[in-house]
Amino acid sequence: MSFSDLQLSAPLLKAIKEQGYEHPSPIQEKAIPIVLRGDDIMAAAQTGTGKTAGFTLPILEKLIDGPKVNGNQTRVLILTPTRELAAQVAANVVTYSQYLPISSTVVFGGVKINPQMMRLKKGVDILIATPGRLLDLHSQNAIRFKQLEVLVLDEADRMLDMGFLPDIRRIMKLLPQQRQNLLFSATFSQSIRALAKTIVNKPVEISVAAENATAAQVKQWLCPVDKKAKSKVLAALIHDRDWGQVLVFTRTKHGANRLTKELESQHIMATAIHGNKSQAARTRALAEFKQGEVQVLVATDIAARGLDIHQLPHVVNFDLPNVPSDYVHRIGRTGRAGAEGEAVSLVCADELDELIDIERLIGNLLPRESLEGFEPQHALIETRLDTRPPRKKKPKKPRGDLSSKSDKPARNQRRSVQSSKSSQPASGEKAKAKRSRRPQRTAEANGNVKSPSRKPSSPRKASSSTWGKSTKS
Ligand code: AMP
Repeated sequence: MSFSDLQLSAPLLKAIKEQGYEHPSPIQEKAIPIVLRGDDIMAAAQTGTGKTAGFTLPILEKLIDGPKVNGNQTRVLILTPTRELAAQVAANVVTYSQYLPISSTVVFGGVKINPQMMRLKKGVDILIATPGRLLDLHSQNAIRFKQLEVLVLDEADRMLDMGFLPDIRRIMKLLPQQRQNLLFSATFSQSIRALAKTIVNKPVEISVAAENATAAQVKQWLCPVDKKAKSKVLAALIHDRDWGQVLVFTRTKHGANRLTKELESQHIMATAIHGNKSQAARTRALAEFKQGEVQVLVATDIAARGLDIHQLPHVVNFDLPNVPSDYVHRIGRTGRAGAEGEAVSLVCADELDELIDIERLIGNLLPRESLEGFEPQHALIETRLDTRPPRKKKPKKPRGDLSSKSDKPARNQRRSVQSSKSSQPASGEKAKAKRSRRPQRTAEANGNVKSPSRKPSSPRKASSSTWGKSTKS
């Protein structure tokens, strides 16, 4: 299928062509006709699938014919959980609408509200917003929704994880009943379905990859390592393998700062991105990373969510995430839009439980490869695949990451910012106790193990790579 089969107008096709897109991605093939027809959508699609164009292109098409927007009004509202994602979606909207007389703007917290109020004065066809700042602007009469035609909830699962449910409910009450709703989420948990019931109307459900499948073109492997040696191993990998651009995940903001300093002491240009950084610092860090001025971006999960960094070659899990689905989100930063990527997890003995949960979720054992000179003294026990359905593990309560005064969920409803689990490793005794409560799982116990190999096995789900950019083919 080509984009011209999708009933899009010439100015859109021109913008798409200039991006070098050859074919619509699977989510675009499915979503575009449904949005054009005016139906509601519930789409299971992760970042990296081309979902932004999947909703933006048909929305722009629909906006071409329609009433002029009045002052302090908008015709389309796109809600995103984080400022970075909002800025990214807004950049996409600008790109695709460049040959159309359609206006758009983005608003989020952490920056001055006045310039945003000024931009809304004349009204705007498409408004991209984070929930907290949108409510602030509404309370100051800077935005009204009388002319609203389409609502998009992007990354709805992350909105819930971040405790935005009360804000979303408040926003829904402000919108006209008659509207089209497009809900995008990486996963469809019970809580997302419950939220969806209150928002979408007879939605068409679409999905482009099995829930929790990891992208086929991402090579995944793990490096068993002692906790203390992790930063040295990371520096060695970067130096020895000539990694040019690396996104590294840590579990805590403090851990991100510490690692950045350690990398810099090893002459590796690194910068951190997390919720304690000002908006300006985060925007700068991301820009420097994208432009290649900084080699390593160290991020916490929420800060990195949805970041669109083109064809990122390397993702490193410096700490394994507590919530297994975050592993899938993290490695979604690489191997994007048909490009190959590599995701490496540095795993110490204390992270065995997290590893088992991740392998159970992705349905694969992660191939192991120790780094010469850094073989761990505290052995990481061999795992065997737990083939029971993945456990429904509740996401960790938000740590207030990426929230500013105006981005935070309603104060009285906000969840605790205390993490339920310390970022410090469990002590040896504690870890042992944890392990003994689990069913027998060592490789030696059942002889059913994949031997560690240097070449990671290919993950189980294939995803299309036929929609890549023409520059790559
Ligand atoms: P998204 O999932 O919306 O974050 O998009 C991921 C990446 O895919 C972005 O860098 C887009 O520019 C790119 N992209 C979107 N649609 C296509 C397409 N049809 N062909 C190639 N790349 C695309």
